[in-house]
This record gives sequence, C-alpha cells and structure tokens, in this order.
Amino acid sequence: MYSDDCIFCKIAQRKISSDIIYEDDQVVAFKDIQPLAPVHLLVIPKNHLSSVNEVTSEYEGLIGHLFGVIRRLAQEFGVAETGYRVVTNTGADGGQVVGHLHFHLLGGQALEAKIG
Ligand code: C5P
Repeated sequence: MYSDDCIFCKIAQRKISSDIIYEDDQVVAFKDIQPLAPVHLLVIPKNHLSSVNEVTSEYEGLIGHLFGVIRRLAQEFGVAETGYRVVTNTGADGGQVVGHLHFHLLGGQALEAKIG
C-alpha cells in the first residue's frame, strides 16, 4: 500500500507533519504547504499510485470515493458555490513533482482561465 521513499505516503502515515484536514480508510486530504490560492488542498489515495497512468479500472471505486471527498471538502471550505478547480499533474510535461497520485483543489479566488 505505501511506498518507502514517497513523501505523500509518509504524510498519509503521519510520519512527517502536515496539516491533515480529512482522513478515512482510503483517502487523506491536507493543506498544500505552498498554497497557490486561498483554498489549496491536496487529496490523495492512501494506496501508492504514482500518477493517473496507474489508475486502472480496478481503482474506479477509489476514484469515485475520492471525488466524493473533494465535493464535500469544496462545500466545507466554502468554495462549492463560488467555484473551484481540481488539477492532477501527470509526469514531467504535466508538471508533476511528487510521484504519488494527488488532486489539487484550488479556490477562494477567481482563477485564471488558462491551460498550460
Ligand atoms: O502536482 P505537483 O506534484 O506539482 O504538486 C505537488 C504539490 O505538493 C505542490 O503544490 C507542493 O507544494 C505540495 N507539497 C506539500 N507538502 C509537501 C511536499 C509537497 O504540500 N511536504
């Protein structure tokens, strides 16, 4: 389930500190250490998947559950009505820095409407 040298696996196991705001048996959510918006959360599966490239059909239930968590956190953090963005960077060209699947939930301000 966990990878030894993965920083997000360590966060999920509370081996390194982070501002965890939600946890269940499958998912952890915490505040991004370098927020790019007033609300900037990271939602991750506990199971170590490197990126979207590893999200095969066996993980459909997990991903559906994870998006339910995102939806509830958007409500809890007050951005559900005003709007927010969910971003998953994949690989080098996608700008992925941490090799553990994660979803950025960004909101609390009008975000620039651009891709890339
Ligand atoms: O999608 P990408 O891999 O580029 O994003 C990784 C994110 O993880 C960054 O926004 C970074 O600030 C965040 N991070 C964090 N806590 C850490 C290490 C990275 O919130 N300990």
